[in-house]
Amino acid sequence: MSICVDSWLIFAVAMSYIASIGLEVHVQLKTRSKMFCASPVEFGAEPNTHTCPVCLGLPGALPVMNHEALRMTVLTGLMLGCEIAPTCKFDRKNYFYPDMPKNYQISQYDMPLCTNGSVPLHDLAYPKDAQKTIASPDKEVHLVRIHLEEDVAKSFHFEKSTGIDFNRAGTPLMEIVTQPELNSPEEAFAFLTSLKLILIYGAVSDADMEKGNLRCEANVSVRKVGETGFNNKVELKNLNSVRFMQKAIEFEIERQIKAHESGEGVSQETRLWDEKKNETRLMRSKEDAHDYRYFPEPDLQPLAVTDEFIEAAKREMPELPDSMRERFIEDYQLGFADASQLVSERALAEYFETTSRHSLNPRLSANWVLGELMRELNASGKSASESLATAEDLAELIKTIEAGTINNNQAKEVFAEMFATGKPVAQVIAEKGFEQVSDAGEIEKIVDQVFADNEAQVTAFRGGNEKLFGFFVGQVMKASHGKANPKVVNELLRSKL
Ligand code: MN
Repeated sequence: MSICVDSWLIFAVAMSYIASIGLEVHVQLKTRSKMFCASPVEFGAEPNTHTCPVCLGLPGALPVMNHEALRMTVLTGLMLGCEIAPTCKFDRKNYFYPDMPKNYQISQYDMPLCTNGSVPLHDLAYPKDAQKTIASPDKEVHLVRIHLEEDVAKSFHFEKSTGIDFNRAGTPLMEIVTQPELNSPEEAFAFLTSLKLILIYGAVSDADMEKGNLRCEANVSVRKVGETGFNNKVELKNLNSVRFMQKAIEFEIERQIKAHESGEGVSQETRLWDEKKNETRLMRSKEDAHDYRYFPEPDLQPLAVTDEFIEAAKREMPELPDSMRERFIEDYQLGFADASQLVSERALAEYFETTSRHSLNPRLSANWVLGELMRELNASGKSASESLATAEDLAELIKTIEAGTINNNQAKEVFAEMFATGKPVAQVIAEKGFEQVSDAGEIEKIVDQVFADNEAQVTAFRGGNEKLFGFFVGQVMKASHGKANPKVVNELLRSKL
């Protein structure tokens, strides 16, 4: 009983607080070379093999702007509805750390490339268990800015020493900052999922958190309902997956409510998520922007972003998930849920369109992609682009089903084999002995034999017992070991009975 009262009290206290969460997302751009030099960008290369005097921060080396990184950032700004600054500049953000031998990072301070814009949160972007209880459906999260900067080197902590890999130093990094408009861990989850999808559609980043393509920090504060102004916020780091981010924010909201309730209060600090202990712990008291002593980068000219440059980026705007979903509903007469599911992954949407184009049967294509293909993908942890059974193969299989060559259950078995081996449809059907007998002459022989063996039933049927039709179908299928084409069997029986 007392447990009940306690948990009710905690719930009631939690309900009287509002959480405000802002996210800072760092996105690695998919350029071929680094931000300010020609060293290649490659994930997983032998450490310290992709370096040069510029990205090693050697004295006297001068930065040269990567045009492609600028284009990708402007494209991202356009996809997210940002304003693109006509002029912007780069600044030095000073700090002393072993991963940055220059002791400053080239970033953008007061004149970022993109400002404002927003990310719409979709129902399907929320965690599965939260999709039925979305507090603010169709919420749009506004952005403060998107700026361009260079990444730092990557530290590897060994037992007694630390190794530094400079392959990552100087790679282009886009920082996306949101307004503190997210109000729950589930909304933060939905934001990251939605943003990732758009970045992947725009081909500006692989946005894979596990590979570090996308890194996220969360600023969390809570305040009592009715209170104006924000309380001290805490910055959360070390959020290495969308799930960890959700859990860290959950923990932090509860910790801050307790601290406010006890009168202890919350101080502005940076905390790390400890995934083993499932808690956040203090890392350092937070520095403010002025602690970094930003000043303009003297080695780079301020940049004019011309209308031509923006127009060129506009022409490369991909079809975004939202409009693609509308098109699927319109052009292929799919339902909202199916269309949403298909566009939830770019590779899946492309797989569906290719299947549909080749099979000329969008309905069946959607069923197979969302049914059998999804089942195999989930079981194998693969993406649609990695499926050994190509979209063209699936289209071929769908045509085979429509022609009545094999039945639906056989087709499922064939598809599983195609997915596992990449073998073409015809080969799998032949190997499994699923080839149906559609030759009317051959089936007629079987029908005649069945009639001869079941004279009484033939007489009864002709006397008006039409229910016996199914019996004859069954007998013919059995005699053909399931290989007779049911369509031909039906036609033959109808004409001969
Ligand atoms: Mn940054």
